[in-house]
Amino acid sequence: QPDPLTLSQPDWYEQGLPHIWLPYSQMKTAAPPLAAHSTQGSTITLADGSTLTDGVAAWWTACHGYNHPYIRKAVEKQLSTMPHIMFGGTVHKPALTLAHRLSNMLPGDLERVFFTDSGSVAVEVAMKMAIQYRLNKGENGRTKMLAFKGGYHGDTLATMAVCDPEEGMHHLYGSVLSEHIISPLPVDEKSTARFLSLLEQHAHEITAIITEPLVQGAGGMLFHSPDVLRHIRKAADDHNILLILDEIFTGFGRTGTMFACEQADIVPDIVTVSKALTGGTIPLAATIAQRHVYEAFLSDNPEHALMHGPTFMANPLACACANASLDLFEQEPRLAQVNHINTVLTEALEPCRALPGVKDVRTLGAIGVVELEKIENADALRTKFIQAGVWVRPFRNIVYLTPAFTISDAELLTLTDAIYKVLSS
Ligand code: PLP
Repeated sequence: QPDPLTLSQPDWYEQGLPHIWLPYSQMKTAAPPLAAHSTQGSTITLADGSTLTDGVAAWWTACHGYNHPYIRKAVEKQLSTMPHIMFGGTVHKPALTLAHRLSNMLPGDLERVFFTDSGSVAVEVAMKMAIQYRLNKGENGRTKMLAFKGGYHGDTLATMAVCDPEEGMHHLYGSVLSEHIISPLPVDEKSTARFLSLLEQHAHEITAIITEPLVQGAGGMLFHSPDVLRHIRKAADDHNILLILDEIFTGFGRTGTMFACEQADIVPDIVTVSKALTGGTIPLAATIAQRHVYEAFLSDNPEHALMHGPTFMANPLACACANASLDLFEQEPRLAQVNHINTVLTEALEPCRALPGVKDVRTLGAIGVVELEKIENADALRTKFIQAGVWVRPFRNIVYLTPAFTISDAELLTLTDAIYKVLSS
């Protein structure tokens, strides 16, 4: 097939590219982006007709593969009756059905669903809920979060403040971000002692602990055991601190269970979901609170209401899409597919361990990671993957796969073979 990096590009690309600002890119030096034409299953077709096998599932969202006909039909049906209506003062079947289903699926009494349209905003809403929870109860001064090194919760001003301040991508903003308590994740004796001492010291000013359960994704695909989560839940309880679990990456099967917190058998006070919520088709996010959190907002004082309301909140197309995605989890063996992907990835990535420069190889659910000592030039490495016919997007010192759960074994092996070949070249 043609080399997608050397062919001439269509007119819309040449005309539009000078007007586009790309994410996470040094625009002066970044490799030019690919011109995508269509997506289907685990295949990306570019404008020149060449194809790539997709290893990323559009930043971990397209869990049923791209352009699933069942989801497409559900969106088309909704499009023909009510593409959008404001959520201030009206409700509709797609949103209420989805809220009901999410609250049934989630553990404990996580039962109040607040819809937004991106992961970062879902986390901001969770932070606002946790802060106002104290204010409404008259517990002044408890406005801080305890977050973890290696954590990532979004790119907005509030969420950047609970990302890793040193290793993370946002340290340039340090001087304008709110101050929170950043602790090491309690994975061993030393980090646990530090975590507990920070809690002890700051409990009077902390309202919530926020963490990604089982996997710190954007922080480098770092895995931890369910015991760590149990420990965090207990420490939060001991200090009357809320626990916010950010399941934006892990939610909807990625780690092998519908939600990662199930593996630790814990219930957060607030949980955030997005990404695979709609099967990666339309933006949607949700912040779901336990009953006791919600009840702190019930009052005769109008100021105790949660003052948040995105214009496109609970967009009916997005909610219909999410309902269709949940149907697919019920109708098709998604979690079994995740476990199968884990078996294939674990075996097929193992030979990478012997390659020079490889520090670690690890898998969890439908996540496969090859950690390198160092990646000198992530763009150049990505280009090599494109030339090998796969869409793999290295970052930090990580090459990772988070494929669609519907990916075939042959496609998976195309991805793992490409990783082996590229890393050994
Ligand atoms: N939280 C986690 C754990 C994430 O992985 C991400 C995105 O990668 C976000 C929050 C932010 O989501 P969004 O990019 O939709 O704002």
